[in-house]
Amino acid sequence: MLEVDCPCVTPEVVLKASGHVDKFTDLMVKDEKTGTCYRADHLLKDFCNEKIQKDLSISAEKAAELKHVLAVLDDLSAEELGAKIKEYGITAPDTKNPLSDPYPFNLMFQTSIGPSGLSPGYMRPETAQGIFVNFKDLYYYNGNKLPFAAAQIGQAFRNEISPRQGLLRVREFTLAEIEHFVDPDDKSHPKYSEVADLEFLMFPREQQVSGQSAKKIRLGEAVSKGIVNNETLGYFIGRVYLFLTHLGIDKDRLRFRQHLANEMAHYAADCWDAEIESSYGWIECVGIADRSAYDLRAHTDKSGVPLVAHEKFSEPKEVEAMNEKEALDMKSSLETKGEVEFYVCTLGENVTIKKSMVSISKEKKKEHQRTFTPSVIEPSFGIGRIIYCLYEHSFYMRSSKAGDEQQNVFRFPPLVAPIKCTVFPLVQNQQYEDVAKIISKSLTAAGISHKIDITGTSIGKRYARTDELGVPFAITVDSTSSVTIRERDSKDQIRVNVEEAASVVKSVTDGHTTWADAWANFPHHSSGSVED
Ligand code: ATP
Repeated sequence: MLEVDCPCVTPEVVLKASGHVDKFTDLMVKDEKTGTCYRADHLLKDFCNEKIQKDLSISAEKAAELKHVLAVLDDLSAEELGAKIKEYGITAPDTKNPLSDPYPFNLMFQTSIGPSGLSPGYMRPETAQGIFVNFKDLYYYNGNKLPFAAAQIGQAFRNEISPRQGLLRVREFTLAEIEHFVDPDDKSHPKYSEVADLEFLMFPREQQVSGQSAKKIRLGEAVSKGIVNNETLGYFIGRVYLFLTHLGIDKDRLRFRQHLANEMAHYAADCWDAEIESSYGWIECVGIADRSAYDLRAHTDKSGVPLVAHEKFSEPKEVEAMNEKEALDMKSSLETKGEVEFYVCTLGENVTIKKSMVSISKEKKKEHQRTFTPSVIEPSFGIGRIIYCLYEHSFYMRSSKAGDEQQNVFRFPPLVAPIKCTVFPLVQNQQYEDVAKIISKSLTAAGISHKIDITGTSIGKRYARTDELGVPFAITVDSTSSVTIRERDSKDQIRVNVEEAASVVKSVTDGHTTWADAWANFPHHSSGSVED
């Protein structure tokens, strides 16, 4: 996968071609008196949740109706949202003033490029476009062959109507996107079998609208039954599941929710969101979309070359523009009605063809290659949201043995913990501190991020401090020849030679071995009651 790094300021033509200028909108309502703006779906959502949770007087039918509104909320049109807001008598939250009808608000920050003010541009609302604009070069670097993928990580900007939920909805955030280009006629994936047997919570469209909840489905079954549109989309759903659970996201608080028909972005053919349950409810953290080809078809690169791929045939193929039945049907319709409706795939719409415009004859053409617009599967990771949820899922409070104290612990897996290891001389003593410095040097050489703590605080307190930072291992220097390594979650300790300490920690934090391996291979050390 090639990584690109494109600018944030994007010329209007690019975002016009992608549809963002016309369609990248959220529905907004205005306080009729003060002009304060609100996101229409958020107001309806808050109203329904409040009623269900706090109003004990509502009937079971009313509660069921409100739950259904919540389930299909993302699917409602502007008119439907407006009608519900009126029906429920929802007013502006702060003033109780009446609200306007919902209308679309474009989420892009506009700017102008250069001094003339004549070249409009936007801060990018997603990083994907930089990859589409550079498609021709990326295709070339990949030997002019599909499938291939490119990735980009960087800032994205959205003029959110009502930023809320702390870090989860902000106007500037880090997005990481993969664009995997694939032949629309062959969306198989060579590594699909590696993920097909994974089983996890999925929430297909039908389950949502019929009021059911997410259930465990084997990925391979979801793909073979057509619940997930194709193998490549399924492959990325599986990889996103593995990625998030390896980070430390709890698999029971992770679900893949399919977009409802109207909810899908203007460019998508099928879309699944990896949603993570947090104290704010279920939060979309990764979107995995099959961006239908129409979005890409409009793109040209800097020199006006359309975004297309080619498949060279080993032998020229005879092709007919239409099959015989289609041609005969068209002919008879033209003769009886004088015109016919014809679907033009490059326009994505029907046009009317009149009898005078066409003649029908049978010809065969030889073609040496096929030229087509690739499909693209796009996993889109909101880094801030993932990290926020990871903190919530990793956090727990551990009781001391006596049960009289609670200690905060972040249980980050060793592979993702920002600090891998702490180094503590057991007591303040020059010899121990020298050994700690030698170990620190070898950790640095091995590329292990670590912290040395030479304060005289008791070892129990230093362990508690390191657990609260989520550091998985602590090396304690209690002699000049050998040291102990303590694991955060079990509090178990092993004894290793000074020279081995860094490599044991490296091997476990790199994921080459596990703590269980280390526990089996080294003598155990008991620190008595020091921890409690
Ligand atoms: P939402 O429905 O929550 O507004 P979205 O459907 O507009 O999100 P996408 O367009 O799919 O989101 O964006 C891709 C990813 O970017 C999301 O999965 C999310 O993790 C992240 N993201 C989107 N908007 C924001 C934001 N305002 N602040 C932080 N992260 C965001």
